[in-house]
Amino acid sequence: MRFKFHKVLLKKRFPLAISRGVRGDSYNLFLSCEKEGIIGWGEAAPGKNENAESVEEIESQLNILMAEGTENKTAQQVNTIAKDRGIAPCATAALDIAIWDWKAKSQALPLHQLLNIPLPSVPTSITIGINPPEVVKERIPLMLEGTTVKALKVKLGAPQGIEADQEMFTQVVESTQNYDIKIRVDANGGWSTSDAIFMMKWLADRGVDYIEQPLEQGKESELKYLYHNRPLPIYIDESCRYAEDVAKWAPYIDGVNMKLMKCGGITEALNIIQAAKRYQLKTMIGCMSESSVAIAAAASISGGIDHIDLDSHYNLNPDPSSGAKMIDGVTTPDLVPGHGGILKPEYYA
Ligand SMILES: [Mg+2]
Repeated sequence: MRFKFHKVLLKKRFPLAISRGVRGDSYNLFLSCEKEGIIGWGEAAPGKNENAESVEEIESQLNILMAEGTENKTAQQVNTIAKDRGIAPCATAALDIAIWDWKAKSQALPLHQLLNIPLPSVPTSITIGINPPEVVKERIPLMLEGTTVKALKVKLGAPQGIEADQEMFTQVVESTQNYDIKIRVDANGGWSTSDAIFMMKWLADRGVDYIEQPLEQGKESELKYLYHNRPLPIYIDESCRYAEDVAKWAPYIDGVNMKLMKCGGITEALNIIQAAKRYQLKTMIGCMSESSVAIAAAASISGGIDHIDLDSHYNLNPDPSSGAKMIDGVTTPDLVPGHGGILKPEYYA
């Protein structure tokens, strides 16, 4: 297999603020792998939490991983080697996504068909970051007008505290009243245990459908205080990276949010889905700052997943890749062989 790297700047429509900081424009690394005239596409979004903060770090880690040889190895074997060598999961994801794309294309099948997974039917959430109420008021119509969006994920856990969260959320409710839209909340670990108990009740009273990552990563032992008599289903995200993490917190959660960049790609995401089923947990699939290549890959395995947050590419202007359009609110992979995502030729030719 011949591999090529392409570094591409992703420009955002709106910067995204969460409890830990703000994310604006960023570079992603695209990976093409070519063999027998077939090209597979992968993508990596660097991130502090993902153990590789730049495209250059991802590239050097991928060179280490690929030096181990990928030919004649299964995707699971490549993932196991990557974990043993401490390769950043977002780097592994680029390779894993490209290999699955190549594999499906070599059999002339859409990836979801190769994996025997139905097409997704659950609408994606789109995300509004932490913002003052006046910004929320201005932004929500820009995000929703003229779209088929059916769900909004609201980032709370503001560093200014839960009063700021309540002010922002109240504005979200007011600004969305003329839209038929579900609202869910992600605190990104921004709350103390007592804030979380209070806010879960407060948000349940206002019709929110679930809460994600109420407590900081590392504080999982306190989830039991939220779980008993919980007014909302609890999902974890930062607290669950790999399939083996599912078992650890299963007694105190309702579901897990997997992301290709966080876990190392499609192979491990499929393991997480299996683990979640084993513990009778719900599933969610989300994303980092990704374009349509990584989103199409995630969308290809999203049929059967309970909640979907595959929306980062809708916030790009422009999206350097294609392959994951919104169809009646659902992020749907293009129905072509592979995962459907490609980097547009003007970004690498
Ligand atoms: Mg999250």
